[in-house]
Amino acid sequence: MSATKYRDFSKSLLDKDLLKSFPKIELHRHLEGTFDIDTLYELSVKNDLDTPRDKVAFKEYCQFPTNHKPDFLLFLAKFHNNWYDSHADIHKVIYNSVKKIKSEGIHYIELRFSPEHYSLKNNFDRLDIIDITLEAAQAAASETNLKIKYLLTFNRGKQSSEEMIKLYQTILKKNYDNIVGVDLAGDETNYPPELFESFFDVVHKEGIHKIDIHAGEICDSKQIWTSIDKLHATRIGHGISSYYDKELQKELIDRNINLCQCLISNYQTNAWSDSQNHPIGYNFNNGIPVSINSDDPTIQNASLVEDYYKVVDYLGFSLKDLVQINLNTIDAAFLNDIEKKTLKTAYLNDVDNFVKSV
Ligand SMILES: [Zn+2]
Repeated sequence: MSATKYRDFSKSLLDKDLLKSFPKIELHRHLEGTFDIDTLYELSVKNDLDTPRDKVAFKEYCQFPTNHKPDFLLFLAKFHNNWYDSHADIHKVIYNSVKKIKSEGIHYIELRFSPEHYSLKNNFDRLDIIDITLEAAQAAASETNLKIKYLLTFNRGKQSSEEMIKLYQTILKKNYDNIVGVDLAGDETNYPPELFESFFDVVHKEGIHKIDIHAGEICDSKQIWTSIDKLHATRIGHGISSYYDKELQKELIDRNINLCQCLISNYQTNAWSDSQNHPIGYNFNNGIPVSINSDDPTIQNASLVEDYYKVVDYLGFSLKDLVQINLNTIDAAFLNDIEKKTLKTAYLNDVDNFVKSV
């Protein structure tokens, strides 16, 4: 399927309302980074947390400040994990947050979540957390007609490879249909991918979940090589340092490994300092599989629409380019070939409706 028929679209895409309604496929977004702020505020009052009671100050407590200089540690400091005192709290924030995703023009999303994140304060059972997450998110998705699948995030700094294996083996017994992949996130500087080889060998051997690794976000391209060669990753989160490694670029093309890139996140964390020349433009123009993603829109105080605006404004993406990058993104989804074909047809139908409506 090709996007060439959209070549003659002449309306300016430098319009956030227009871009908001453009259909999008997203593969890299953290549930914990897309939380509804009003619900977090409600929980913080109910659970008597030591957070600002003034709503403006509360937002600042939760979000990376607009116009602040890039700062990786400040960005990470915005992920608080003490909001929840009960299963009902977790259900509420997930339901209210997923309910809002469709309004960004999302046609299909693979949303990732970390059972550890919800469990650390009260030591909730991880399988209960997975059940609650799927129940709340599925309810919100079906009410908003959002196509959704899930990845389980394992965090480098919070679990050893052995602990990951133990948890994963209990998860496998539950046969969750909608969980399609496993993600490795967290501090890649102090916890390089080779520490987790034994875990990803188990995931790969089971063959049920595909593998997506955060790699080369702030570290060099060796981490990407290790992730694809030793950890069986078929998708990479960020992969910024591939920009400096021509041999790796060729490998990514040959093996059709998609770099799920996130412009605003990369700028705020200082993974990439020149926001006007993000490597996503180079990657797309040179045939390196790549997709446009938001990562953590609530923390960033910017929705996926802002990432789209940047690729149009700074990198000159046309409607044809946007459709093509989304079709390439469907190729990288953790779905089977029949599901991908069905998704492409439905996606292009949505794009046709978008074009007719503007
Ligand atoms: Zn991420």
